Amino acid sequence: MNVAIAGAGIAGGYLAGLLEQRGISPDVYDGRDHATSCKCRSCGWGVPMDINTYLTDVGLDLKDYLIEPMSPMNFDGLVAETPLCTIHKPRLLRDFAGAAGVKRQNLDPEKAEDYDIVVDATGITRALLPPCSSELTLPTLQHRVAVESNGNDRLGAGVYGNRIPGLGYLWIFPLGNSHYHIGIGGIGHIRHDSLLERFYRDSSGMFSFTGQCSCHGSIRVASPHYSTPFYVRRTRNDGTPQLVIGVGESIGTVSPFTGEGIVHSLECARILADSWPNSEDYTKAVLARFAWMKKERETLDYLLSPEGKSGPRMRDRWRFFRNARRSGIKLPMLEAFRQMGTLSQWVENPDL
Ligand SMILES: Cc1cc2nc3c(=O)[nH]c(=O)nc-3n(C[C@H](O)[C@H](O)[C@H](O)COP(=O)(O)OP(=O)(O)OC[C@H]3O[C@@H](n4cnc5c(N)ncnc54)[C@H](O)[C@@H]3O)c2cc1C
Repeated sequence: MNVAIAGAGIAGGYLAGLLEQRGISPDVYDGRDHATSCKCRSCGWGVPMDINTYLTDVGLDLKDYLIEPMSPMNFDGLVAETPLCTIHKPRLLRDFAGAAGVKRQNLDPEKAEDYDIVVDATGITRALLPPCSSELTLPTLQHRVAVESNGNDRLGAGVYGNRIPGLGYLWIFPLGNSHYHIGIGGIGHIRHDSLLERFYRDSSGMFSFTGQCSCHGSIRVASPHYSTPFYVRRTRNDGTPQLVIGVGESIGTVSPFTGEGIVHSLECARILADSWPNSEDYTKAVLARFAWMKKERETLDYLLSPEGKSGPRMRDRWRFFRNARRSGIKLPMLEAFRQMGTLSQWVENPDL
């Protein structure tokens, strides 16, 4: 059976390693035509430390990629312990790719004809599957900056929702050697570049910022439930059947609240490898495993609707709290509920 994986990002690169262990040697394609200086898709590189359970499955070790723990972390002024860290994602992708032997070209439909099974691991592009039922995406702008302290303070890791009008947040993720990813993701009438400039201006008393690079991106925040179909069966030009099946962000395995997709795309790839190649079982398992993402997506829909102008409901606050708990962030319940309250301000001032 000929198998191709389109996309050597997190999901595709990891899946290739898992399939190899099961005696399947897929051909992996990735043109990597990203206009970024790290040659990867725009990303903050933030993950939970327990990503290591996935890495060890394919013979890798977090310590070879760990840049910096992100504990404590500032959430709109509230400082909490987290199990988060930053990793050298380009190096991880290189090591995934090293094992798989990636072909440096995109998989186009003509070449895809050669394969019995084609995996669409093309992330936001979703190059081979038909369009999904919802295309809700979060536009982003991220800078890599060198930060110099004007005193003794060090810029800490943080996530700030109250700096963003509309629905979104600003993140500060340390990359070692006084470098940081500072980015903004926001839905609505948000001027990402002027909000980042405002952040630099507001912080200029304490820190000096020197830009290294900048990239725009988009995150699929539709949730898996609204990113169907996960697979299609088609007939090739020579009359033989072909299965095209999605994995990772191409089928929406990203937290709609936070845009966190790395660890969830690894989990999705693991589910696909475990159910290979039973597409029905895979679909059921993904929808069940990420059912919470559907609820987060419904909160986004509500907050973006006219009724949502009155602010988050109790169930939205509960989902926010559950999200923090799921990520191992130790926000006290009352504080988490208060934080969610700031979300209503973002929505109430969409044109700021
Ligand atoms: C600004 C920004 C910041 C983010 N920060 C974080 C974060 O800190 N933590 C986190 O967990 N998540 C973060 N995310 C989300 C995370 O990056 C993604 O959810 C995750 O990388 C998805 O992995 P993937 O393998 O499914 O897709 P991708 O990583 O997007 O990989 C898809 C690959 O497919 C390739 N491709 C595209 N078309 C084709 C084709 N036709 N043929 C072959 N290859 C193709 C692309 O070149 C790419 O390498 C961020 C996203 C953005 C935009």
